[in-house]
Amino acid sequence: MKEKIKKVYYCDFCKRHTLTINSMVKHEKHCTLNPNRICRVCDGEDDDCPMCKFSRIRIGIKNGIMPKGSFDLKEEMAKYWKEKEYEYLKRELY
Ligand SMILES: [Zn+2]
Ligand SMILES: [Zn+2]
Repeated sequence: MKEKIKKVYYCDFCKRHTLTINSMVKHEKHCTLNPNRICRVCDGEDDDCPMCKFSRIRIGIKNGIMPKGSFDLKEEMAKYWKEKEYEYLKRELY
């Protein structure tokens, strides 16, 4: 029998954990519960970014603030991409 002891890296903000430090460093940078996160979607440059909205909601819930209404990240992301695509197309056309 072999016994192996492995290091587990836990995110400071959410419950995620990994066995490699690199992936955890990467995750923490973008973790939606990290108030100083760097957004993977918009780089923190877009107020309408669904990922940033989702992050604000999650951080709010953690601090006991319940969100108004519902928020479907998948749906919002799909809408967001569609709009972006459309803007891109418009730029291509004119
Ligand atoms: Zn996390
Ligand atoms: Zn964002």
